[in-house]
Amino acid sequence: MSQKKEDDLKVIFEALAFASKMHSSQRRKDNRDTPYINHPIDVARLLITEGGITDSSVIAAAILHDTIEDTEATVEDIEALFGKKILSFVLECTDDKSLPKAERKRLQVVNGPHKSPEAKCIKLSDKISNVRDIGEYPPVLWSKQRLIEYLDWTQEVVNGLRGVNKPLEDLYDKTVEKSREKVESMTGQSK
Ligand code: NDP
Ligand code: ZN
Repeated sequence: MSQKKEDDLKVIFEALAFASKMHSSQRRKDNRDTPYINHPIDVARLLITEGGITDSSVIAAAILHDTIEDTEATVEDIEALFGKKILSFVLECTDDKSLPKAERKRLQVVNGPHKSPEAKCIKLSDKISNVRDIGEYPPVLWSKQRLIEYLDWTQEVVNGLRGVNKPLEDLYDKTVEKSREKVESMTGQSK
């Protein structure tokens, strides 16, 4: 195996090991106790299999994309373990948690167009993953209206991420349409 391939595999598996450790006590918001790590793995998979992206820095950053935002992992941890380039992609995908939720959501819409192409691709895959979950395994406590509002918001964010990866953009469009139909037909969703 070439040195490059070996280094690529190493960084991806270091990212998997780190993210799975940091997210280990967390679950998704669905009703099946889904381990949180399933989501970052799904985001990385979408980049590779749908977006045709094979740059190991982007794949590792996708695996790590929720660690700073949602776990005790720090900027310093990610920089020390994965270097400045991967850190910068992760930070581009990290909301400022000191801000109120509504402001964070507004900033995702406003800031999206100014992000690097790599971060735009990670964010596109993140939204595909979450929007598919909204249709298939929705957060248990959310009302139908809240699910619809979430889908509407992702569409606003994604409109600011277009122009970097057509397959991911097309997949998002298909997925949001399908999830919208599923949500519209839901009867048992709370409240
Ligand atoms: P959250 O940000 O709290 O939750 C959405 C996030 O949860 C997703 O982006 C995803 O993030 C993660 N997630 C975990 N499990 C799932 C799953 N099964 N399916 C999809 N996503 C999942 O919620 P909101 O985006 O709604 O933000 C809160 C906002 O909602 C506030 O602005 C507040 O004002 C409003 N609100 C609305 C209510 C209503 O009834 N309309 C009620 C309460 C609040 P990740 O990629 O990071 O995992
Ligand atoms: Zn995410």
